[in-house]
Amino acid sequence: MSDRKTFVIVGGGLAGAKAAETLRGEGFDGRIVLVAAESRLPYERPPLSKGYLAGDSTLAEAQVHDDDFYSAHDVDLLRGARATGLETEAHRVALSDGQELTYDRLLIATGAVPRRPAIPGSHGDGVHVLRSVADADVLRSALSGGGRLIVVGAGWIGCEVAATARGLGADVTVIERGLVPLERVLGPRLGEFFADLHRSHGVDVLPNCRVDRIDSRSVHLADGRAIEGDAVLLGVGVAPATELAASGGLDVADGIVVDELLRASAADVLAAGDVASALHPRYARHVRVEHWDNAHAQGVAAARSMLGAGTPYAKLPYFFSDQYDLGLEYVGLHDPRDELVIRGSLDEARFQAFWIAADGTVSAGMHVNDWDAIGPIRTLVENRATVTAEDLGDPDLPVAAADSGQRGA
Ligand code: FAD
Repeated sequence: MSDRKTFVIVGGGLAGAKAAETLRGEGFDGRIVLVAAESRLPYERPPLSKGYLAGDSTLAEAQVHDDDFYSAHDVDLLRGARATGLETEAHRVALSDGQELTYDRLLIATGAVPRRPAIPGSHGDGVHVLRSVADADVLRSALSGGGRLIVVGAGWIGCEVAATARGLGADVTVIERGLVPLERVLGPRLGEFFADLHRSHGVDVLPNCRVDRIDSRSVHLADGRAIEGDAVLLGVGVAPATELAASGGLDVADGIVVDELLRASAADVLAAGDVASALHPRYARHVRVEHWDNAHAQGVAAARSMLGAGTPYAKLPYFFSDQYDLGLEYVGLHDPRDELVIRGSLDEARFQAFWIAADGTVSAGMHVNDWDAIGPIRTLVENRATVTAEDLGDPDLPVAAADSGQRGA
């Protein structure tokens, strides 16, 4: 009998594909099986709400690896195959086509699925979600003639699609439950900035709305208003794809619960990317991050753990977004009660924002259209710099000099 080990990766997204690449890169010479429910080669999702949706970039540009990568690296990529059952004692995964795979190590990188609100009509004709290339293709053809798009939910996906749809000539209405877009992530002041941004591009932003039902592509609000549209996009968040983990009895709580080495509650099973709720050394609690950088870095980290060479995953959460001609990057994790400090001009749409925690340290920072800023911002957050709002907001003081610890050194 062969003693060649088999490592199975379920989920052919960014995290799964990076894990396969890393296993080979680190010299693993056993069998790698990558189980991918989608029929396409693993691809990156950020372009789906931006350049790909706009028709400015191709799917080939979004692929994690080129067409030959998987065969050239002896990765057994099972496209269109869904893992449906897990037996952790037996180290076995069942696939939808009846096949069974026995693993020495298993990585679950199944990502997340869009939520559909529990309201009548949310599965109706012309009501879209956006997660996959297939979703993007359908949405793009719905927008091809311009028309009227109603976006329900002003989170990242909703805001990006609103911007792209405006670029395609659609009339766009954004319906938001909160008072401003992105309020949950960025708070009311920056949310107002994004409301103004979208309004200045002709988007009708309707805050404080409850959707009652969707009917014939029209959205009916609880206050009696009806918004008429030709297509509806639901951008109300995603849920981690935990069914496989649950079928194997793994600990699941808003994602697959994993330790600092990304190991789940059963031996030889790991999780990475959007689906993983990982114990983060800095925050001393489990954190689940739904962003590109995390999927990329955790795919690499999980592969190293599978090889027994893992180190605690301690990377700061980071994300980016593009809307119209605005780009932003954010690093860290702030509490809504942290103090917001703006450096630069909201009016000119070029600024930095920082959040200061109750203990005076920088918990997070971001920039808008200030592309050289992210390095110094990251350093402040990484170092848990102690700052005052006055120093940090002073445009004449270099960001690094706001760190009173460094100044005293
Ligand atoms: P996924 O990319 O979701 O991949 C998981 C894969 O597993 C999927 O292909 C799924 O079909 C497959 N799968 C699920 N269950 C099974 C199963 N049982 N068997 C087999 N296969 C299975 N992040 C940013 O930081 N910036 C951005 O600008 C940004 N833009 C985005 C735009 C869009 C439209 C979307 C959808 C996401 C965006 N993100 C962005 C988030 C980022 O793309 C995700 O964090 C990232 O894709 C997560 O990667 P993943 O590998 O964990 O999961």
